[in-house]
Amino acid sequence: MSETANDLPLVGRRAFLWGTALVAAAPILSEAELAHAKLASQSMGVLPPDAVIINANENPLGPCKAACEAITKILPLGGRYDRMGELDALTKEYAALHGLKPENIAFYAGSSEPLHYTTLAFTSPSKSLVMADPSYESAAFAAAISKAPVRKVALTSAYAHDVKKMVAADPNAGLIYIVNPNNPTGTITPREDILWALENKPAGSVLLVDEAYIHLSDEQTVLDQVAAGKDLIVLRTFSKIYGMAGIRCGVAIARPDLLDKLMPYYQNAMPVTALAAARASIADKDLIPTRKKWIADSRLETISWLKANGYKPIGASQSNCFMIDTGRPAQNVIAGMQKEKVYIGRIWPVWPNAVRISVGSPDDMAKFRTAFKKVMDAPATVASAAGRLDSSRRIAGTGGRAFLS
Ligand code: PLP
Repeated sequence: MSETANDLPLVGRRAFLWGTALVAAAPILSEAELAHAKLASQSMGVLPPDAVIINANENPLGPCKAACEAITKILPLGGRYDRMGELDALTKEYAALHGLKPENIAFYAGSSEPLHYTTLAFTSPSKSLVMADPSYESAAFAAAISKAPVRKVALTSAYAHDVKKMVAADPNAGLIYIVNPNNPTGTITPREDILWALENKPAGSVLLVDEAYIHLSDEQTVLDQVAAGKDLIVLRTFSKIYGMAGIRCGVAIARPDLLDKLMPYYQNAMPVTALAAARASIADKDLIPTRKKWIADSRLETISWLKANGYKPIGASQSNCFMIDTGRPAQNVIAGMQKEKVYIGRIWPVWPNAVRISVGSPDDMAKFRTAFKKVMDAPATVASAAGRLDSSRRIAGTGGRAFLS
């Protein structure tokens, strides 16, 4: 008799599922993989030491001082799983911070995991994923695994999610995905639009609001709608304002019955270092306002410079990324910048002339400005077919974990 996934102990199920035809094998695509997929000539993530890395919406400040101290303190206990109750403590503290109950909160090693699992849980060949275009692509990769149709809806003229069109896109929608602020544009979808979507979405669908960048903006969260028991999953991450992308901590926030639907897809033990760092980070009351201002200042200075020099930033970003319409094939601009050792973000096919810039330190952005002017001063060249990256190919040397896209 052949073994089925359900016969296996829980610990072995994931490896089994990836290795069989039961579920088409595909990675959970994080921003790092999407960003570095562009760097086909290099091994994943290995860049020159003097590179300016503004391609993955990371935070150059890294974890705050208290988080670093918490990691150092817990390190000697890292030989064991979480026997210290860090996960319980963080869950309670995080719930209290947001006026929620611990059962509304599920931590993961980054928010890419719950994003992937939510898509798998709520989409299928007969239940589509509805998302904006351009928006964060990771859910669409997961929808390919569940063989769900993906309905992409253009942003409004203000670069908000067009909630009316998204809600109307498919009466059989399984999941409606709103990223607020949006990645890659950094633009806002007003809270009242999201509340409208919650009230008017197709019966049986779930709204997924990805608040990865919410702390960088002036917009209000919709976490109160979780407390109100709505069909809503909110994602947050410690990768952005908290500067912990490499430490890995993210959270899904929802009604317990919705969170339960994610569980069959896997929930790894959390690294104790991430838990300790997250606890220290949320206890640091200065972190959010200080970092929000630091990133906003760097963003606004760069956008003012772009406008003053006749370049075309797109929309009004309130985040650590924004797009520029370069007026020429964006892949040439990316390649030109790479020659200057400035690594900028990828292309969204709907806007082939636009590049995404992540907001780095003032020094990073000064180097960006010099390189961008040099590249844009050079005559625009036509993209060569050989240089074009192809989404159907995987990057060699990454174990097939990353795609060229
Ligand atoms: N959601 C959005 C909108 C993102 O931009 C990212 C990363 O850039 C993620 C989720 C995943 O982040 P992480 O897995 O590092 O928490």
